[in-house]
Amino acid sequence: KQRDPNQAPFHQAVEEVFGSLAPFLAKNPQYTKYGLLERIVEPERVVSFRVTWVDDNGQVQVNRGYRVQMNSAIGPYKGGLRFHPTVDLGVLKFLAFEQVFKNALTTLPMGGGKGGSDFDPKGKSDAEVMRFCQAFMSELFRHIGADTDVPAGDIGVGGREIGFLYGQYKKLRNEFSSVLTGKGLTWGGSLIRPEATGYGTVYFAESMLNTRGESFEGKRVVISGSGNVSQYAAEKSIQKGAKVLTVSDSNGYVLFPENGMTEKQLADLLVLKNERRERLSVYAKEQGLQYFADQKPWGVACDVALPCATQNELDTEDAKTLLKNGCICVAEGANMPSTLGAVNVFIDAKILYAPGKASNAGGVATSGLEMSQNAIRLSWSTEEVDQRLFDIMKNIHENCVEHGSENGFVNYVNGANIAGFKKVATAMLEQGVL
Ligand code: NDP
Repeated sequence: KQRDPNQAPFHQAVEEVFGSLAPFLAKNPQYTKYGLLERIVEPERVVSFRVTWVDDNGQVQVNRGYRVQMNSAIGPYKGGLRFHPTVDLGVLKFLAFEQVFKNALTTLPMGGGKGGSDFDPKGKSDAEVMRFCQAFMSELFRHIGADTDVPAGDIGVGGREIGFLYGQYKKLRNEFSSVLTGKGLTWGGSLIRPEATGYGTVYFAESMLNTRGESFEGKRVVISGSGNVSQYAAEKSIQKGAKVLTVSDSNGYVLFPENGMTEKQLADLLVLKNERRERLSVYAKEQGLQYFADQKPWGVACDVALPCATQNELDTEDAKTLLKNGCICVAEGANMPSTLGAVNVFIDAKILYAPGKASNAGGVATSGLEMSQNAIRLSWSTEEVDQRLFDIMKNIHENCVEHGSENGFVNYVNGANIAGFKKVATAMLEQGVL
């Protein structure tokens, strides 16, 4: 904190992980040797660069670009790119740190990294987004590679942006490699990658519910966000017979009737968000649904909550409200959406609570599967990728149960942190002091 006083989200992520690790480290002191804890919180490399582009009015715009290469002990750096005005080093270091443990949990050989820019794609034309992506990649390309660092999407970076970024990389390097994941299906992308984070979150939540003899069938589900993760969390919830009651954006939330969002309403949402790029206030009006401006959806009574928007979107008061209204399961689709206070409320109440690094790992896991398919120059079927995703989520759940069980209660935070840490720390110790 003294070294980097302005990186609050990073401090929060480290505090959560080290809080879980303290009792484990007391019993396993070998993991405290050779400066391991000091090394694991320090990125191996951080690059920061100027991104200059020209907007549609001919004005020169300057943004800041970053890549945080956090840890490569178990594989090439892997983690998304975020384009959002709030992006700074504190946010990216928190995301990269979380990514290290999440990637370890997937069982695939991927280190951790994260990057992005304070560029805001909202309200920009396709041509402006393309020029920005090309300018961004014109610097980033020197620092990444299929065996070095493989970025993907995150907030503000979807299929459109990955396409522009990949095109520029290919042009500069004169090579067609697996340097990005989330690619289009006709140029190396994997089936199920767009769906993977949302689907995986629901698979994980269902594994948790199964431990208490419950399932998704008939459950009332409250979802925040309306982007990539939320859309497919909603789709899988509906497929499993649950009633999706809300989606949101940074301006408010939409409430569906008590039987939940229909398949048609979901299809319309995907067109509105991904093609028309409109706001939810417009969607609510078009669908004749209630819209609550400037409010979060946590006050809506539910059985399952899936926070899928952004960090710290669910605080202590929200957590108490969810419990009061009967919520029994919270699985994070976003990264660190619950504040430390909210996490403690869930754990003290002994409800089923999964931190993002466990429940949203399906996205990066399927990115790992995209890299495997690219390496063997083959494409697997939808069924094959979905089955592998399902198996990976089940395996992460079992790993959390194994490392997080305490007197009959599964503390998924401890389980995920300890299991992920053990794998990375063992590799770091075996590779020497670097
Ligand atoms: P998208 O850009 O597709 O969607 C983001 C959604 O969250 C939008 O509805 C957006 O609303 C909302 N949102 C973003 N910032 C804020 C904010 N400050 N306050 C309130 N709402 C906000 O991103 P993704 O769906 O890809 O990512 C969502 C979360 O999931 C992030 O935490 C990301 O790190 C995490 N994640 C994503 C993975 C992936 O595969 N995409 C993998 C693992 C985790 P608005 O349009 O108003 O900004």
